[in-house]
Amino acid sequence: MPYVREALEQLLLPAECTLCHTLLSFSRSRWLVCEICRHRWRAVRPPWCGRCGQPEPLFGPCRLCAAWPAALRAARSAVWLEGGARDAVHALKYRGLARIADDLASAMEHIVLPECDRAWLVPVPLGAKRLRERGYNQSERLARALARRWRRPVACLLERVRDTATQTALTPEARLANVAGAFRLRIADCGLRIEDRAVQSAIRNPQSAIILVDDVFTTGATLAEAARALERAGAPTVLAVTFGRAVLPDFT
Ligand SMILES: [Zn+2]
Ligand SMILES: [Zn+2]
Repeated sequence: MPYVREALEQLLLPAECTLCHTLLSFSRSRWLVCEICRHRWRAVRPPWCGRCGQPEPLFGPCRLCAAWPAALRAARSAVWLEGGARDAVHALKYRGLARIADDLASAMEHIVLPECDRAWLVPVPLGAKRLRERGYNQSERLARALARRWRRPVACLLERVRDTATQTALTPEARLANVAGAFRLRIADCGLRIEDRAVQSAIRNPQSAIILVDDVFTTGATLAEAARALERAGAPTVLAVTFGRAVLPDFT
């Protein structure tokens, strides 16, 4: 029956690529982005800083991840945020196309992280106001789409204490200050240590790594702050994945 329904839907509403408006073949009609647009997304590749995944500076140590909490071991992104990749994120965040999360997750699927096979995926939360406006958290949609591919569970452990200002300041330091204290643990009973008090575990193995999921990595400040909240609660290993990575000026 789903097949019949999809066939009818396609007759009534021929599916087209959200980005270039080419009609999609029937076999591709469950996607929102055509294969050509998808192949135009430029993958982030090494050489990179082993920790933050940013191309390494020509001189000296990586400045981007120097102030990160110790628990945040590695962050990786699928593609550079330019052209069609930026349009796809825009569709997910501002055009109400939550379903495009599956297209984005297909680009994130091949990201390799240590301890991935035992990890939990934790979406970076939105503030209450933005969540009301958008109707969904784009990072949660990405996390759920990725979780289906990786066959890992999703746990919405974090909440955003306050809506942070749009991060227009470009330096890593300014961004860190902007998001300081923005996150806290949503569920006390999640198997992580809360202020030295051992609590009953909903996460069966608290030693499992936590993988933060977000749509875009700009300077990593948001991920670092979310990791800090998890670290305070006793999480020993936090990793992070994003779909896009902003092309930044060299801070060195
Ligand atoms: Zn297209
Ligand atoms: Zn780095």
